[in-house]
Amino acid sequence: MSLAKLAFPAGILYRGSSVVRLPSLAMELRCPDCNSADLKKVSLAYQENVHHVDTRTRLRALLFGSDGPNLVVGGAATQGVHWTQLSKLLSPPMKWSYVRLIVGSLVVTLAALFAYVVFVASSPPPVSTLPLKMYVFLAPVIFLVLVFVFWRHNHLRFPQESARWNRSFICQRCGAVSLHDVSLSSPARPQTT
Ligand SMILES: [Zn+2]
Repeated sequence: MSLAKLAFPAGILYRGSSVVRLPSLAMELRCPDCNSADLKKVSLAYQENVHHVDTRTRLRALLFGSDGPNLVVGGAATQGVHWTQLSKLLSPPMKWSYVRLIVGSLVVTLAALFAYVVFVASSPPPVSTLPLKMYVFLAPVIFLVLVFVFWRHNHLRFPQESARWNRSFICQRCGAVSLHDVSLSSPARPQTT
């Protein structure tokens, strides 16, 4: 018995995870496109597929992000390409990073300062301080607006998208993604903050 367990540790782990709850629920779900009952929760499909991503796809995602240029990675990486096409449908919604906002603002500020220094160096005195004054006045306003936009996305849109993603099912026959309300035995934990 212990030998059998040792022989297929991965399989037992897999069956022991939350995946096993789904078949009974999935029986009632039907694909709206092909009426197949072979639906899989998008969050689970995402977790499984993420392991198939080849290094090149991962590197490209790192460089360009998921919304970056959609280059076709040729060669033997069929799985990776297939997954790249699916990933936009399957990938979970992301919160927007305040750190990125701050770093981006710093970069813009440094670039603006550099441009102003070049402007000062190249113009004959007296140099206008109007650009500097405008920047000092406008930059905080723009920054606050951006912070509000980020906050709105993270607190209003992100929970909605997250809930929608948790209700999404992908058809394993035709690949259509559809929304289904499933009352799991354990109440779905809302993703807070
Ligand atoms: Zn289908």
